[in-house]
Amino acid sequence: MDRRRIGLFGSTGSIGTSTLDVLARHPERFSVEVLVAHSRVEPLIEQIKRFRPTVVGLVDERQRAALDERLASLPHAHRPEVVTGQAAVDDLAGLECLDIVVAAVVGTAGLGSTWNALAAGKRVLLANKESLVAAGELMLDVARRAGATLLPVDSEHNAIFQCLPADQAALVGRAGIVEERREIDRLVLTASGGPFRERPLADFAAITPEQACAHPNWSMGRKISVDSATMMNKGLEVIEAARLFGVAADRIEVLVHPESVIHSMVRFVDGSVIAELGEPDMRTPIAHALAWPERIESGVAPLDFGALAGLHFEAPDPARFPALGLAFDALDAGASMPLVLNAANEVAVARFLEGRIGFMAIPAAIEAAMTAFAAAGPVANIEAVLEVDRAVRDWTADWCGSPLARQER
Ligand code: NAD
Ligand code: MG
Repeated sequence: MDRRRIGLFGSTGSIGTSTLDVLARHPERFSVEVLVAHSRVEPLIEQIKRFRPTVVGLVDERQRAALDERLASLPHAHRPEVVTGQAAVDDLAGLECLDIVVAAVVGTAGLGSTWNALAAGKRVLLANKESLVAAGELMLDVARRAGATLLPVDSEHNAIFQCLPADQAALVGRAGIVEERREIDRLVLTASGGPFRERPLADFAAITPEQACAHPNWSMGRKISVDSATMMNKGLEVIEAARLFGVAADRIEVLVHPESVIHSMVRFVDGSVIAELGEPDMRTPIAHALAWPERIESGVAPLDFGALAGLHFEAPDPARFPALGLAFDALDAGASMPLVLNAANEVAVARFLEGRIGFMAIPAAIEAAMTAFAAAGPVANIEAVLEVDRAVRDWTADWCGSPLARQER
């Protein structure tokens, strides 16, 4: 069997390193051709030594000299070609030598590479949910036109993909698939509830970045950790599910399940519920999407039912987690509102991580941006997406520096 050739965008992050962990277990199946990171040279060098990619993308041009210096110590035959700068690095996603692109960049920064991979008809393993929230139908259109295969890596969406009937699973990204299939009642996205599920609302203003990044079940990058703490992660995932599975908001349910053992479920009209269970470890959905429709070992320990103290469920609390309601509002509003929500969230989370705004100022900033951009119409092309994204970012940055943000402390 020919090895599948992998391009890993965001190789030094949490999803990136989990992906390499799985790939290292199957050298006979996969070869790593392209590795892309933003700026961290040391972990990238270790990955280059181990996986011997043919091309490496480093977004931050200021780190080029440091990378070249480290590469000079490698045997000549092991030195990859190096590409720097965002646009040139994003172009690597369309390289002919790639079969599979793993979209594991964080935030809208991943839009360019994810888009290019889909436009080139690749199999795309989507972790970078923000790109799909921002570009929405445009992204699915480009995937359909190019005959790309879009497979969800986000654990909830990967779980739903596994729970759907097989013929349907192959249709991910086709508009309206759940709507057409009336035997499917609802999609149930589970949520851990994050680190503040039991914290009194009165104490939310004092939440620090370190507390917000300490997730009880999953080890993740800092941005998605804060998104989990505000539950905006679940909000983005509701929009992601609506897009991927072509389903209306009223057929998506969010259920808090603190153990994170059930990764999501599908309810059928006859009362059956099919769930996907496992240890909370991203190597499972990554391995699933890499090998689909086959299955390969991921390194994840088998689920030990005897060690489970129980499985618990509760409804999300709208007062403590207003971000979730804002995401449903954005989905209902349609047009460019999910894009506005996502851009405002990215800026507000970055400001929170810098210690410049309080925790509850994050949803306040998003709500304010959604009001300010209420009249923004639909976006017709990728340039328009980037234009609205930029305008919302500038607006939200100003808001975060204003007295309004300080009131939310
Ligand atoms: P992370 O912060 O750990 O890693 C981000 C990666 O993106 C790094 O390799 C970084 O170098 C790279 N990067 C940053 N800016 C870039 C740019 N402009 N161009 C190219 N590369 C850039 O993030 P993460 O936790 O691995 O999350 C990555 C994506 O996967 C996010 O969209 C997140 O929502 C999604 N996701 C993560 C998890 C998880 O368990 N970590 C689970 C589900 C979905
Ligand atoms: Mg998820």
